[in-house]
Amino acid sequence: MNVLVINCGSSSLKFQLINSDSEEVLAKGLCERIGIDGSLTYQPAGGEKVKSDKAMPTHTEAIQFVIDALTDPDTGVVKSLDEIGAVGHRVVHGGEKFASSAVITEEMKKAVEECNDLAPLHNPANLIGINACEKLMPGTPMVGVFDTAFHQTMPEKAYMYGLPYAYYDKYKVRRYGFHGTSHSFVSKRVAEIVGVPYEATKTIVCHLGNGASICAVLNGKSVDTSMGLTPLEGLVMGTRSGDIDPAILEFIAKKENLDVAGLMKMLNKESGVYGLSDGVSSDFRDLCAAADEGKKPAQIALEVFGYRVAKYVGSYAAAMNGVDNIVFTAGIGENDGDMRERICGYLGYLGIEIDKEANAKRGEEVIISTPDSRVKVLVVPTNEELAIARETVALVK
Ligand code: AMP
Repeated sequence: MNVLVINCGSSSLKFQLINSDSEEVLAKGLCERIGIDGSLTYQPAGGEKVKSDKAMPTHTEAIQFVIDALTDPDTGVVKSLDEIGAVGHRVVHGGEKFASSAVITEEMKKAVEECNDLAPLHNPANLIGINACEKLMPGTPMVGVFDTAFHQTMPEKAYMYGLPYAYYDKYKVRRYGFHGTSHSFVSKRVAEIVGVPYEATKTIVCHLGNGASICAVLNGKSVDTSMGLTPLEGLVMGTRSGDIDPAILEFIAKKENLDVAGLMKMLNKESGVYGLSDGVSSDFRDLCAAADEGKKPAQIALEVFGYRVAKYVGSYAAAMNGVDNIVFTAGIGENDGDMRERICGYLGYLGIEIDKEANAKRGEEVIISTPDSRVKVLVVPTNEELAIARETVALVK
């Protein structure tokens, strides 16, 4: 079956058409600047990437252009819509309502809408994409795959904040976690690679990309993760602060005369390694280059990032009473061997030894620990689109 995977943002839409039998990507692309002017980037497997400007007042036009591109007689990869058996939609927040992926129905969409205030930038956009697809592909089964669902197995002690209970009762203020599709995909793959049943693994997944989070996966279930009510908590990220002393907010608000929106912008867009490096970059390639040139703030940013990851790994080893596998994934985790080595440098007490030659590889599946290492350390490229396609097929079959 061919599955169209859609990741819809407020003004963008990423898509992949995946053959679920061969797990091959038949075509992929991106619509950008929806509601502003509009452009479509489209690439069929083995073909050239083509970018064209197209008026996209709403997501419906964007999806129509995607369908046109996929069925184009020259550059398309299917003859008609009949060859697309299902659509899998990424949905950011499923609150406490979704502990797994779900077939999209009117009732399901209502439940997603009820989670909108937990992810006001993402969930409404995800729903717009779902509605536009339903309009243009009536009768095609659709599935929602949630970033939060995998973490619904976290115990109360991991998801409750030290805040008045009434906020949980009334507003569902608690930790949810994100990147669940990636943490689930990568931890399952680790079990296959090390040859241990998923239900008998203790794995820590370090998803280190522009957004970054860590997850403790005990016997195939998420028992803790570093992001919280929103994706702002936890690690120091590209531009997000991660954990800070909450009292800093009042202190900075007074000093800089910032309101709540100004504080949130600072925490989400002006902090992280970008802020720490004094504005050098949020991209680790630029940061590494600046650090090599001797720029102190870039060096500090890299140190803080690695140290925070290592502290979380330590705390999750405690949470699971040990750890068998530590796995790196996403842009930084898959490509930045120096950062992996820096992080593992803090973990000697776990009996970790890194094989420098294996760790020099980038973007491929590899065990980077030595055979003597007490904990296996791996790199596993994440593939959220494939994970969404698999979930979609499992539910529509
Ligand atoms: P992601 O959000 O998973 O796409 O990851 C994006 C981040 O990965 C970028 O901001 C870069 O910091 C990082 N990245 C990608 N390629 C490399 C590389 N070759 N070396 C170091 N960092 C990289």
